[in-house]
Amino acid sequence: MYDFKFQIASMAVMAIIVIAYFINEKLPLMSTKIFSAFMIVSACELFFDMATVYTINHLDSVSPMVNRLFHQFFIGSLDVAIYLLYLYVVMHTNHQKRMPLWEIGLRSVPLAIAMLMVVFAPLYYNVESKIHYSYGPMATTVYVSIAIYIVLIPAQICVHREDIAPKKKHLIYAGLGLWAALALVQLFHPTVLISSLGLTLMVILVFLSFENPKEFADNQVEALNRQAYHTVMADMIASKRRFYVVSIVIDNARYIQDVMGFAEISNILNSIIQSLRSEQKMAIYHSRSNVLSIFVEEEHILTSLEQAMNHWNEKCQRVEEAAFQPTYHMDVIECPKYASTEDDIYYLMDYMNARPGNQLVCSLDDEMYEEIKHFHAIEDLVDDAIRNDGFEVFYQPIYSNQTHTFSSAEALVRLKDSASLGYISPEVFIPIAEQKGMIKQLGNIVFEKVCRFASEQKLWELGVHYIEVNISGIQGMDRGLPETLQTYMEQYKIEPSFINLEITETAAVGAGEILQENMQKLRNYGCHFSMDDFGTGYSNLSQMVTVQFELIKLDKSLIWPAFDQEHKEAEIILDSCIQMINQLNMHIVAEGVETKEQMEALSAKGVTYLQGYYFSRPICEGHYLQYLQMH
Ligand code: C2E
Ligand code: CA
Ligand code: CA
Repeated sequence: MYDFKFQIASMAVMAIIVIAYFINEKLPLMSTKIFSAFMIVSACELFFDMATVYTINHLDSVSPMVNRLFHQFFIGSLDVAIYLLYLYVVMHTNHQKRMPLWEIGLRSVPLAIAMLMVVFAPLYYNVESKIHYSYGPMATTVYVSIAIYIVLIPAQICVHREDIAPKKKHLIYAGLGLWAALALVQLFHPTVLISSLGLTLMVILVFLSFENPKEFADNQVEALNRQAYHTVMADMIASKRRFYVVSIVIDNARYIQDVMGFAEISNILNSIIQSLRSEQKMAIYHSRSNVLSIFVEEEHILTSLEQAMNHWNEKCQRVEEAAFQPTYHMDVIECPKYASTEDDIYYLMDYMNARPGNQLVCSLDDEMYEEIKHFHAIEDLVDDAIRNDGFEVFYQPIYSNQTHTFSSAEALVRLKDSASLGYISPEVFIPIAEQKGMIKQLGNIVFEKVCRFASEQKLWELGVHYIEVNISGIQGMDRGLPETLQTYMEQYKIEPSFINLEITETAAVGAGEILQENMQKLRNYGCHFSMDDFGTGYSNLSQMVTVQFELIKLDKSLIWPAFDQEHKEAEIILDSCIQMINQLNMHIVAEGVETKEQMEALSAKGVTYLQGYYFSRPICEGHYLQYLQMH
């Protein structure tokens, strides 16, 4: 008598999973290929399981050779399936890194021995009992080999437990435990044929925990998500082949989101995805909120991507009712020529994506690569300076027309070490510090240095009324800012009114509530504020009134043209600004005063404070003290 019920149930379940797996979009990974092989071998195992049940029960009519062959396939495929599962777990936990041949060989030893036994060792058939079964050295060796892999799999997971989500880990452990239990039952009761059930169970568990297609589907647009992007990137790098990372960036995404809302970005991305897919079937990843990425292996596909984007762009231009046009650019990075690790790719990609898109297609070339390397070197330098006291604060005296003294100064940061890369202006490294999340620490270092210097030298006794300190817009949006600054002022016993914080006009206008709240807190505490670089931003005049500034600093670009004989309008604009600010009862600092003529003219126009090379360049602490004594 024989009974297929376990096998039939397993077959049915397996069929459902295979279908579910193959109709969904899969990641182009080595581990995906291994999983596909694992499923196919498992399905074969189920088939031969049933086939052997038939042949062993019909030994009178089936030739012994066919019976043995079927048993060899059945037992062999079971071992191969488990071996593939093991390789799969190894690939996963090793971030898709390819193993050297010797390592694959070593990991395959139990399988190899078992396969030799499958080919050459004898197998006996028990047809005496009610249920027929096979046994003997072949079966035993294969069971031992399977047992080894069943131990190696959790061991591999355990060693790399940090890389696997706990939920997945537990699922795999539970599955293996169950399977081991089933195998034991099989070993001691060879009449119960449940190994196939165990295998099917494993396929289900791996499918649900690792290969679930939903896990890699983006929930915002019809593409694969960031995690998929990362995983496939690791695989592409590991394969050591040449490939291109293409990113399609919506440049004005911020603006579109502000005007039209978040959903509009998704619509735009989806329409791009459609255009790309109609040109070429491929995996598209939603790698950043406004970026779609694609891995390309053949160069000609780059051209067709470019064409697809052109078509998409033309289509957008045709939609006339759109209140705005989404603008995009495409970045291409060749790997491994320019990037051989995931970090390299992310770094280059972020840099290129953030560049203003004046070129529709931007392929990374040697020149730009050097530029990025320089940027990276500056980033390292700033990082190093933060950790090793590599900053210095210079002071630029500011002349007061009221007291006719240098009653204030602006603190300007300098990098001490300029040997390696030459002088680097804060105009270069401050934006880098902002981009790379280092501005908060940098700002704190500058602020503390100013407090320490002022308190050590008792600057107020030298006729200095206050020091102006620059606050970056990003720093201003940090909720902890007021408290940090207060702590320094208390530590060095600095009167809050001795500090004047400069916020650029662009930051003051663009920043939201947090900056407003921070300013209010610091104002209540006793600090004063200047609006820096007036004339370079949107000149939001109403903002000037709501956010009270004690001082308005007129930017060089507003002042210098007014002294140019050919720019009559510039002088009108300057005069009107000065008049308006004075009427609003705020004081003016004119920046970039370089000549006596400028100094005299600006004073005559009613500017209270003057700052510029005419009086002094920014100078180090020692020179600044000397300067104060001389004047
Ligand atoms: P800023 O706040 O507008 O600073 C004034 C800049 O103009 C300084 O450049 C100063 O050296 C320069 N300057 C002053 N007088 C003249 C002049 O007569 N002619 C010319 N051509 N230039 C003059 P610097 O020191 O290179 O700083 C550049 C920018 O870097 C600053 O512009 C400021 O935005 C930023 N910065 C400097 N130090 C800090 C800091 O500690 N924190 C933050 N967040 N930003 C800083
Ligand atoms: Ca400033
Ligand atoms: Ca300025």
